[in-house]
Amino acid sequence: MRILVVEDEIHLQNIIKKRLLKEHYSVDACGDGLEALDYLAVSPYDAVILDIMLPGLSGIDVLKRIRAEGSQVPVLFLTARDGIDDRVAGLDCGADDYLVKPFAFEELLARLRVMLRRTGGHTTDELTLADLTVDLKSHQVSRGGKIIELSGREYAILEYLMRNQGHVLSRSQIEQHVWSFDYEGGSNMVDVYIRYLRKKIDEGFPQKLIHTVRGAGYVMRAEV
Ligand code: CA
Repeated sequence: MRILVVEDEIHLQNIIKKRLLKEHYSVDACGDGLEALDYLAVSPYDAVILDIMLPGLSGIDVLKRIRAEGSQVPVLFLTARDGIDDRVAGLDCGADDYLVKPFAFEELLARLRVMLRRTGGHTTDELTLADLTVDLKSHQVSRGGKIIELSGREYAILEYLMRNQGHVLSRSQIEQHVWSFDYEGGSNMVDVYIRYLRKKIDEGFPQKLIHTVRGAGYVMRAEV
């Protein structure tokens, strides 16, 4: 899942980014409200962490602008301890949640999971398909009760496919939700990683869960 972090305190921006990368999110970050609008215009983010006091354009104005354009992306506001008016204004103009600085990173991660759960329409931190389970909190993946070891990127792709199980996802959709702008790599990386995933998830099981849809992309489903 791809997250945009908008925070002008560079130290805080860096530690949020680092912590999210450790959780296998892909992350873009900027410290200016106008720049945030540019990022949001070109990439389909799964969530935005948005500071309120920003140069260029305030977080509130960024949110107003994207909601007016019809964006439903979940937004978590970061506010100062004394910014009660900001919190109310933020929620009024369509923020999904807020955190008061300074906050614990575990709480930031928990709030983020809840927001992503809401958009995905699932109610727990566990995604399942047939005998495959993906724990979104611990990032543990198992099939038939046996734990499967995945690299960070493999996990990120599997998570995105599992959140959208039953829906055919194009290569570019997968790319856009799993890689950030920092990424420089080959154009067929999605296919390469799907091959790795198939080896680990499907090989040796009679029921295949990862399917290719010719000319369209990939889908995870339990076919009978
Ligand atoms: Ca700020």
